[in-house]
Parts: sequence; C-alpha cells; structure tokens
Amino acid sequence: MNKPATSPRFLCDAMLGSLARWLRLCGYDCLYLGTEPEDAELARIAENEGRWLLTRDHELAAVGPKTQMVRSGTLEAQLAEVLDRHELPPPEDLEAARCSDCNGILEDVSPDQVAAEVPPYVLETAERFRRCGGCRRIYWPGTHGEQIHIRFARVRHTMARTE
Ligand SMILES: [Zn+2]
Repeated sequence: MNKPATSPRFLCDAMLGSLARWLRLCGYDCLYLGTEPEDAELARIAENEGRWLLTRDHELAAVGPKTQMVRSGTLEAQLAEVLDRHELPPPEDLEAARCSDCNGILEDVSPDQVAAEVPPYVLETAERFRRCGGCRRIYWPGTHGEQIHIRFARVRHTMARTE
C-alpha cells in the first residue's frame, strides 16, 4: 500500500517503545529515543522535525498542538487509537514496512546479495529479501512469524468496532 506523501511522522515517548516498533511495521516514520531524553527535549525534537509526539503522560500531552495522549493500555488498542486519530488505514501487510529496530527504510535485495548472511534454508526458500538502509538488518517473509498478522487482524477488528 502506498502511503500519501503527507503521512504523519511520529515520536514515541519512553513508555511507548512497542507502539513505535509497530507503527514502523505499518510503514510510518516513528522515532523512539528510549528513556534518556527529558520531556522538554522530546517536545523540542518533535516540534523541530514536525512529528506528532505520542505519549502516555498527561503533562507531556499538554505541551503542544501536535501531541497525542495515548489512552489505551494494550498494544493493539494503542495502534488502533493512533491510526484512527490520524485517519490512517488499518494495517494489512508489510509492504510499506520500515525497520522495526531502527526506523530505517527497507530496500529490495537479491538472494545473491544476502547469501553470506542468512541461513541456507532461508536462502533457498524465501521469495524475497529486503535490507534495512539504517542498521543493515535483513528481512524476509516470515521474519516476524505469524504473530504480526494476528496482531494486524486484531487491530483491524478494533478499528472496525470503534467506527
Ligand atoms: Zn534497521
């Protein structure tokens, strides 16, 4: 699925590391800076980069117009909450996915290019390989197992219910 050029970009606070990974898998540019930055620093980075600041903290949610207080406690509900708020489509597949580890962009690579880096069985059976331009991690169908599709289905279900 092609995302419009105006897709919102996000920055998750320290409490929302899992949400950040899953927003990336849905194809959204999402920064996560761990527990290091102070609230004021997070707010400043979000504003400078034109990102929506996603937070579980009431005080932090009050700092600017482009902040979203994430109310749900579970990952699926959090993802549904953010996608709904920004009128983004429910997740279907990993076509637009970014690297869940580092937010890098995935590029198609040939089996030859990854032959030395993946297990022989995977090299023989996987239909497609992509490499992260950031951390160089290699992705292939099945990297995330069935779990990701189960989670996406739950998010779609949650979004359909709240329409
Ligand atoms: Zn990466």
